Amino acid sequence: MGCGPGDAEGRRGCVSGEETKRPDTRLVEGGRRKEWTQGIVSPAVWRASTILFDTVEEMRAAYPPRDGRLEYGRNGTPGQWALAEALNELEPGAAGTRLFPSGVAAVSVALMAVLRPGDELLMVDSAYGPTRAFCEGLLKRYGVTTRYYDPLVGEAITELFTERTRAVFMESPGSLTFEVQDVPAICAAAKEGGILALLDNTWATPLLFPALAAGIDLSVLSCTKYIGGHSDVMMGSVTTTAEHWPGLVAAARGLGQHVSPDDAFLALRGLRTLGVRLKRHEENTLRVARWLKEQPQVAKLLHPAFAECPGHEVWARDFKGSSSLFSIVLRGGDDADRARFVEGLRHFGMGYSFGGFESLALPVDPARIRSVRKPEEQGPMVRLHIGLEDPEDLIADLAAGLAAYGVPA
Ligand SMILES: *Cc1c(COP(=O)(O)O)cnc(C)c1O
Repeated sequence: MGCGPGDAEGRRGCVSGEETKRPDTRLVEGGRRKEWTQGIVSPAVWRASTILFDTVEEMRAAYPPRDGRLEYGRNGTPGQWALAEALNELEPGAAGTRLFPSGVAAVSVALMAVLRPGDELLMVDSAYGPTRAFCEGLLKRYGVTTRYYDPLVGEAITELFTERTRAVFMESPGSLTFEVQDVPAICAAAKEGGILALLDNTWATPLLFPALAAGIDLSVLSCTKYIGGHSDVMMGSVTTTAEHWPGLVAAARGLGQHVSPDDAFLALRGLRTLGVRLKRHEENTLRVARWLKEQPQVAKLLHPAFAECPGHEVWARDFKGSSSLFSIVLRGGDDADRARFVEGLRHFGMGYSFGGFESLALPVDPARIRSVRKPEEQGPMVRLHIGLEDPEDLIADLAAGLAAYGVPA
């Protein structure tokens, strides 16, 4: 399910982000078509596998499936169509958005949609761990080889292109270490070489970085994070141009990708408040990060809005703001010291994911999975997600945690 360009009979497809509405208005109004929702502001959950037809003619008319036409559960009901359209409206230049049951499913199917056996994929070294695992596992078996590249490569990416290179995958900022990539330069180089550009835009969302406008062909989100925003739903999405939409749809249908109507309800409900949540996440995060930067136990702050983060200038040039996720490198200390720090926190939970209303602190060890650019940092790293609590309470908590860590004196 997903909203795409109008079908062969010229029926209207989903609305792309081209009109003059501003992003906060799109967040509120996206996908609220009366013919889908009957005017209900938050569309009801329509659970369906079988949908009955009265006549053979009606049954035949439902094919091929498209949004707005009930056919079979796998092709969605109004809630999923509305969510896909609302996400699509956030991305200027988008022709269609397809939903997936997780961010990992969205990454995997986007790659399957564009790669063929014999192709080579250029994958950023700072990619999300399970993205690498997919490349080394199923994608390899499918006959695609993956080469990893330095996230700070910029336009020199052209030197890595061979006649087998079919696509370059970016994630900016990178997972765990937050290197900001020069996405426009890499997209321009890729276009020049006839190579496709994909981006995992989970950290920024289209609100902070409109990916297709920067030259990206397929943009992936883990909607589990900021879109859902309440740590209670798994979801992914891929948004793409008219050129790549049919290939994406074919891959998603072929692999039977479907999201539950209940999960679509939760994700759409989260999406409506994404704008205000992201603004508050940013304010709280900058407040906490500025305080952390002054602490003797903190050797380095890996947050794109701070000068010491690799690629900071590119972030300042290209992004409309920053979100809630960054890492700190602790001075001195070992694994046990770090464990004392995170286990002692009262307001920060220890768990995977981010983008929910609640703060998280997670020990991370990125060096283990890198192959090109090992992080320079020597001390133990902790990744923080700053939630919507009062930042003064979070700072007091971190102060106590750092006192327990204690190392530099
Ligand atoms: C979490 C995450 C994913 C995977 O999303 P799931 O919904 O957990 O499958 C992909 N990319 C990035 C950058 C992520 O942070």
